[in-house]
Amino acid sequence: MKTNQNTQRPIRICSAGYALRISPMTVALALIATGAGLVGTSSFAASKAVVDTSASPNVKFRPIDLDTASWVGGFWGDRWELNRRVTVPTMKQVMELPTNSATFHNLRVAAGEIQGKFFGNNWGDGDCYKWIEAAASVYALNHDPELDRQMDEIIAVIAKAQAPDGYISTQIQLTDKGRWTNLNHHELYNMGHLLTAACIHHRVTGKTNFLNVARKVADYLCTVFEPRPKELAHFCFNPSNIMGVAELYRTTGDKKYLRLAGIFVTMRGSQPDGSDQQQAKVPLRMEQEAVGHAVTAAYLWCGAADVYAETGEQALLDALERLWNDVTSCKMYITGGTAALHHGESQRVRLKRWPIDSVHEAFGAPYQLPNRTAYNETCANIGNAMWNWRMLLLTGEAKYADIMERVFYNSMLSAIGLEGKDYFYSNPLRRCGEDVPLLNNDSRARWPNTTPASPVHCFCCPPSLARTIAQLHTYAYGVSADTVWIHLYGAGRLDTQLPGGDAIQLTQTTDYPWDGKISIRIEKAPEKEMALRLRIPGWVEQPVLKINGQVSSEQLPPDSYSEIRRGWKAGDVVELQLPMAVVLMESNPLVEETRNQVAVMRGPLVYCLEDKDLPQGVAIESVRIDRDAKWTARHESNLLHGVTVLETQARVVSQTKDATALYRRVPAVKADSILLRLIPYYAWCNRGVSEMTVWLPAL
Ligand SMILES: [Zn+2]
Repeated sequence: MKTNQNTQRPIRICSAGYALRISPMTVALALIATGAGLVGTSSFAASKAVVDTSASPNVKFRPIDLDTASWVGGFWGDRWELNRRVTVPTMKQVMELPTNSATFHNLRVAAGEIQGKFFGNNWGDGDCYKWIEAAASVYALNHDPELDRQMDEIIAVIAKAQAPDGYISTQIQLTDKGRWTNLNHHELYNMGHLLTAACIHHRVTGKTNFLNVARKVADYLCTVFEPRPKELAHFCFNPSNIMGVAELYRTTGDKKYLRLAGIFVTMRGSQPDGSDQQQAKVPLRMEQEAVGHAVTAAYLWCGAADVYAETGEQALLDALERLWNDVTSCKMYITGGTAALHHGESQRVRLKRWPIDSVHEAFGAPYQLPNRTAYNETCANIGNAMWNWRMLLLTGEAKYADIMERVFYNSMLSAIGLEGKDYFYSNPLRRCGEDVPLLNNDSRARWPNTTPASPVHCFCCPPSLARTIAQLHTYAYGVSADTVWIHLYGAGRLDTQLPGGDAIQLTQTTDYPWDGKISIRIEKAPEKEMALRLRIPGWVEQPVLKINGQVSSEQLPPDSYSEIRRGWKAGDVVELQLPMAVVLMESNPLVEETRNQVAVMRGPLVYCLEDKDLPQGVAIESVRIDRDAKWTARHESNLLHGVTVLETQARVVSQTKDATALYRRVPAVKADSILLRLIPYYAWCNRGVSEMTVWLPAL
């Protein structure tokens, strides 16, 4: 292993040879010597992971490459395919419209290819780069030349739009706003997403056309931020730039990018008068509580986790663990959503709150988790999963995988329609009738992907969904020295190598999350001993593990990884049975909004009641559930693209006739019985506009 002057991080250049590590400079010289050059398609093939921790010293495992696993049908396979076939292409079409709130139009104008004015919102460029990240992630598996061409075409535009010094942000370049004049201009958010997208594009295509743009961006950012200008300490709003430069360091090996990532983490909160809205009131290392904008928080915490993975600075991990405990103990919805407030004041409890610190799209006070007015922006929920994924990487603790899975199946999937082309921005747990007004960014139905999103709307969530679904199979597995980790279950294949180069192939056969039986067949394994680490979810009781048909006597505590270490041969089968009981959940009683109510879960899925499933004339608020009711789980293949519904006998109580009064006498109890049907929360609002509730009063 050679490195370049201690400033270069070793990178892999051979997809088949994980042990082969040489410096970027050596790669350059080798490619130039063979005539391949560094521009255009080459045999260059570094790590293809979304988060490349293959040389990070402070992680428990490394994520797999985008092209070393795939879903094969099943729950996620269907969604991956829908994403490829519908979501990614229709999103590109709408983002080509000059009247969409995030549009490639601005980049084309900045590149001088067309005449026009800037249109949309400040963060539209970042959303364009997220589309490229989604496309590259799809391309990693399907190698579609048309997708490759589309990416190259827009990357050429981006390269032309980039200023000679490396800066790029069309909302500034095409207007008279001026660089770095207002942190709400989102310049770092945009450039941060460019960096991440460029790294992934480079990893899966081997091309450097986008990476070259990214390096110019990052070099420019180094010149601006390395002096640590006080006036820019809290720039910008959502710090996707930290993840971006950290990943660029992992891609190029250039340590100045890691230094810059550390500077971005340290600067935030370092100056007086910062706001919780931007996570800028208290430096991260001193932070005690989750406050302010939930996407900004998640992106900052993801970036700090990336920095910790490289530096091992304990103060960062301590802060992240404190914040995780705060979020999961009193500020997260049962769906994994994280943002109680549309608008309000910061609910920081450990410091004086005067003067009022206004926040929006933000964490609320501890246990303040309203359902109808929950914000739960899709980007915040996905950010929560990204953060938990990184915490899992750093610690190997299954509790983080549980939250990640909770988000994926519930508050992430609720944001995209079953046809793959309409989106929710906010993800409340209660939707009332049409006479009850909505708050900002709420909508009765998901926004369609076929017509432009207006500039008052925000297109940040759709490409976040597209990229995450395209990458989801890489969240399912990990590898460490002699271990394969399985974090998520779903029908599919894994065909990868352990860090030492030994090949491992396995097949998962399962109907998860509808059924808890998971069969893992070893197709190829190293000759030496190897461990399989299987996640035992926190929600499961009495799981059963069989190895080649023999029941294992190992303890399988919930929220852990079960390790099976042995010599393996092709044809060995591990079977995990995760009983999927219907479970009634309640909140901590300090959550006033859900007192005396229950939510229903089965496996990782949160269920809801939608008025479409109620008999005519029965109001959603009149339904009561018996705590000891018997439940039936039944799969309906023709309902909502195939869902397992939950049914029970429930009671319907009489409603007052004075429905508009704020306070009224309780009517005499008259309870009827109905057969109640619940559907998975993610599938609500796919049969037209509806009323819906996750929490139901319990008798
Ligand atoms: Zn968003």
